Amino acid sequence: MAQSRTLSIIKPDATRRNLTGAINSMLEESGLRIVAQKRIRLTREQAEAFYAVHRARPFFKDLVNFMISGPVVVQVLEGENAVERNRTVMGATDPAKAERNTIRARFAESIEANSVHGSDSPENAVSEIGFFFTPAEIVG
Ligand code: ADP
Ligand code: MG
Repeated sequence: MAQSRTLSIIKPDATRRNLTGAINSMLEESGLRIVAQKRIRLTREQAEAFYAVHRARPFFKDLVNFMISGPVVVQVLEGENAVERNRTVMGATDPAKAERNTIRARFAESIEANSVHGSDSPENAVSEIGFFFTPAEIVG
């Protein structure tokens, strides 16, 4: 079976509540393998660049402020259909609409503070992984 990769971020609302391990368990139980991981603080410039696609949205400034409000855990996940598999275990952006037993249904505080990020396409996964990791940091 073809393995692929996706970028995941455990967001500040989740690191603040000490949920890194609980979220990692859900990722692993979904069949994903964490092949790279680091806990960092995003700079404002990094957060703006990472979410540049949303620059024109009304929530952009708040989103950037939220993403730099505490540590995040950036990770590369590997598995079959990694992007889609991760989006499934994450649940919908709005936790009120997320399926039961998804990460966001269980842990998200709001549509903004929704605990995790996941790449939305294989193409974006490649560029988002490259945003945070060198090839040598990813150990499959
Ligand atoms: P997803 O993270 O599910 O891919 P988007 O790419 O649409 O969702 O949005 C990026 C992030 O911006 C979301 O995860 C969330 O933190 C924030 N966000 C999205 N929509 C809203 C909104 N209507 N109000 C506040 N924040 C939002
Ligand atoms: Mg998105």
